[in-house]
Amino acid sequence: MIEVNGVTKRYGERVAVDDLSFTVRPGAVTGFLGPNGAGKSTTMRMILGLDRPTSGDVLVNGKHYAEHAAPLREVGALLEAKAVHTGRSAYHHLLAMALTHGIPRRRVEEVIDLVGLREVARKRVGGFSLGMGQRLGVAAALLGDPATLILDEPVNGLDPEGVRWIRNLLRSLAAEGRTVFVSSHLMSEMALTADHLIVIGRGKLIASASMSEFTAMG
Ligand code: ADP
Ligand code: ADP
Repeated sequence: MIEVNGVTKRYGERVAVDDLSFTVRPGAVTGFLGPNGAGKSTTMRMILGLDRPTSGDVLVNGKHYAEHAAPLREVGALLEAKAVHTGRSAYHHLLAMALTHGIPRRRVEEVIDLVGLREVARKRVGGFSLGMGQRLGVAAALLGDPATLILDEPVNGLDPEGVRWIRNLLRSLAAEGRTVFVSSHLMSEMALTADHLIVIGRGKLIASASMSEFTAMG
């Protein structure tokens, strides 16, 4: 469960997030919808403890991560797609992360299979396509087997098959009882993926309702 309580984030004069409050429940995919610049990434960074609210607070399963980043074993994150610059193979990239966080080696094998990277696991990450890079990012997010997953625009730049893959994966992670919070600027995408929708604009909450309530509104 994620609780955002009266959070405001200012960057100098600019208010990126404005007195925002909402709850994200486990066992469902919760979409975070809003146009570019609405404050989605800023909110997600604060949930992850990568940025601090100017005021208000954020709790993830009852804990504050405002002082240090959330542990990989508790919260998995896929932030905006950016290439991983490493000469390492996908396997070694994940293994290095696992070792740093005290995660057993066999879990690396599990996540590689889970995201369908087995055939390229020994290849250099530097040569990966965007879609393969996204799969690697998802593998990293799942490495700690976290109860909570935060994904910032995970389908950006993916082909239709990659989009379907992410959608099905998020649905199955939620069905396992995890808290899945995923941002998008596309209602059409959210309608196919999310059970519940939180909508923001200019840093403020516009709506929080089940997807069936949104579709009933037309
Ligand atoms: P979204 O993810 O919905 O596109 P963001 O959270 O990235 O929105 O941005 C919200 C607002 O905060 C934007 O106006 C953006 O320019 C501003 N912003 C985000 N990060 C910073 C930063 N590090 N410094 C200054 N302004 C920022
Ligand atoms: P089980 O789910 O019965 O534990 P699995 O072999 O499917 O057996 O899972 C092995 C490990 O991987 C478990 O710790 C499980 O919680 C985790 N796991 C299974 N599916 C996923 C998933 N989709 N995402 C992340 N972790 C998963």
